[in-house]
Amino acid sequence: AAIFRNIDTNGSHPAIATTASSDPASVTLAYADIRGQSERFRRQVALLSGGALPAGSVLSSLLPNGLSCLLVFLATTLQRLVAAPLNPAMKQSEIEFYLQDAGSRVLVVPEGTAEDSDGVRAARALGVAVWSVAWEPQAGLRLATLGGAPAEPPAVHSTEEPPAAPQPDDVALLLHTSGTTGRPKAVPLTHGNIASSMRNISATYALSPADRSFVVMPLFHVHGLIGATLAALYAGGSVAVPPRFSAGHFWAEYAATKATWYSAVPTIHQILLRHEVPVERPVIRFVRSCSAALAPTVLEALEARLGAPVLEAYAMTEAAHQMCSNPLPPQQHKAGSVGVPQGVEVAILDDSDQPTRLGEVCVRGPNVTPGYLNNSEANLKSFTRAEHWFRTGDQGYLDADGYLVLTGRIKELINRGGEKISPLELDAVLLKCPGVAEAVSFAVSDEMYGQEVYAAVVPALDKEGEGVTEAVVREFMAENVAKFKVPKRVFVAQELPRTATGKIQRRVVAEHFAGPQ
Ligand code: ATP
Ligand code: MG
Repeated sequence: AAIFRNIDTNGSHPAIATTASSDPASVTLAYADIRGQSERFRRQVALLSGGALPAGSVLSSLLPNGLSCLLVFLATTLQRLVAAPLNPAMKQSEIEFYLQDAGSRVLVVPEGTAEDSDGVRAARALGVAVWSVAWEPQAGLRLATLGGAPAEPPAVHSTEEPPAAPQPDDVALLLHTSGTTGRPKAVPLTHGNIASSMRNISATYALSPADRSFVVMPLFHVHGLIGATLAALYAGGSVAVPPRFSAGHFWAEYAATKATWYSAVPTIHQILLRHEVPVERPVIRFVRSCSAALAPTVLEALEARLGAPVLEAYAMTEAAHQMCSNPLPPQQHKAGSVGVPQGVEVAILDDSDQPTRLGEVCVRGPNVTPGYLNNSEANLKSFTRAEHWFRTGDQGYLDADGYLVLTGRIKELINRGGEKISPLELDAVLLKCPGVAEAVSFAVSDEMYGQEVYAAVVPALDKEGEGVTEAVVREFMAENVAKFKVPKRVFVAQELPRTATGKIQRRVVAEHFAGPQ
């Protein structure tokens, strides 16, 4: 099941739309155009590479969200090359690491990118070819060697052999994990992995040709690429792709593009809560939250504001995105839970691979990566020997209804004198404290207990927020959690340090507030 076999590329049904703030602005491509553009791309690649880019070669890209970015991904995978999209905000040394780790042969950048930009410098340092891409209003994708002449695609000869179709075990995508708990690991995902994930996500939300996803997550991570985009295309629906998330443009562009749903990280939901929804509420069939814990308070506020179900899901790069999600009504969705397994198997195992109530969340299914690239140590640790379960590194349990509750990353649990405390559980309680807008609890080394519970909070920008002090928060916690879980110290700050993907790295937060750990 190659990705493209699951997308009907013959029709005139819209597939990809850009927004008013995109470049090119307000363009809509039909499914048949995707096929045409992929063919055009294939012939340009053959020309630029002199036919010397065999199947399986890695093609990296540094492209903002949009038409070119998405088409380059689709066209790359369709012709059996491996797409490795990278975050365009990265600096030279970071880009060098990813290009080298992925074994990239080519880096694709937007036309007009300067020779002394970080990406081009990184590629030149490694001897990686640099191609530019642009969108021509009449013809579509235009590739060129950076600074060189465009590769005018030759006409197709009727005698030309059609390229071999990608096979399910062919690697389509090479992404790195977010690096929240250590050095990012390279995860190859096959056509089969991605196809099964697209199918699962599309089924979870009953996506149809009538749906349009408003894509605000970056296309260089599985959330934006598979969760928000490919799942929508699998269902024969469409996507609207603004160049980036912008709170100011969000609702106007969501409504103008006639989107029906969006998926985002909790940080984005929180930012949107600070902005008014237009008086004429747009159609919102459901909202999806994924990639970090969604506090029940935020979920409830969002549902009240939008009048739509907010469904939290659980995903990771190694699983080609989604593993669990809360289901659509009339089935129950629960705040504080990431829902039920969606087309994959989930088990809770202890250190000796035995089933247990509270333990490591493990997953198995056709969506799971065949294994990290060049990292036998991580592979040995991540897959159980007998049953080949993938160990997620997350701790959790299944409640009486079979809904998964995550209690935190195993590496981030707070171990206070042998008592394991879930930081996720504490964050949720901290957020109930009046006036607290954001909260994070973390472990700080302690002579007496090994580790102590600390927390940092960001007050709301209103009257209630003004009343937030360390004493107030500690008192609130003392009333709501067992004494050993009450943070010994609470820092009140204007902002919490986050990763590029909006995630909290508790270790980094601990060092930020309490010094080297
Ligand atoms: P690394 O593996 O390099 O440390 P990472 O795990 O953050 O980084 P990703 O694959 O982007 O890299 O993220 C997957 C992780 O995100 C999951 O293992 C889990 O810890 C977290 N996560 C995803 N969805 C949720 C959710 N709904 N609630 C809580 N955590 C979530
Ligand atoms: Mg991880």
